[in-house]
Amino acid sequence: MQTKMFILSLVLLTLSLFFTPISSKTAYCQLSVQPESGVKGNVLLVQESENDPTWIVGNIYGLVPGYHGFHLMQSDNFTQGCYSAGNHFNPEEHDHGGEDSTDRHVGDLGNILADLTGVARFNYHDKIVTLYGDESVIGLACVVHEYYDDLGLGAAPESTINGNTGGRLNCGHIVEGFPYSSS
Ligand SMILES: [Zn+2]
Repeated sequence: MQTKMFILSLVLLTLSLFFTPISSKTAYCQLSVQPESGVKGNVLLVQESENDPTWIVGNIYGLVPGYHGFHLMQSDNFTQGCYSAGNHFNPEEHDHGGEDSTDRHVGDLGNILADLTGVARFNYHDKIVTLYGDESVIGLACVVHEYYDDLGLGAAPESTINGNTGGRLNCGHIVEGFPYSSS
């Protein structure tokens, strides 16, 4: 009897998986608003389902070697370049932090590290950034900054606002889809 129930459970599980719609979402952000900076690159965001973390993969070129703050911003307004994209995306009204901080903006992705050739490659999962629902980052912007993000722990007044990261080198629109599917 137990064996029959086990087999039945397996059959039901297989059937349920077969009929479950594939619901993963993908978005990308191409750093293209300020090409004169010489900084360029792409960031891909993938989330398997609403309850999964978002996988964030990036390749950014043309940076000064070292750490650079990398953030998701609150709008896609580029009328004055990357500066008009607003502040870090912060729908829950927290202070600025790092990607592992409990108190952080949703858009706080910490630092990326450019190697001696000026290339930053990164690949990690974020538990707060989502591509689903009211707090989805699709339609917003990604920005790479001039300086290191102090993650809200610095002495400068800007620290708890934006990590004291200085200027915005380049940015882009976060678009749903896959970067190489339409060209
Ligand atoms: Zn922030």
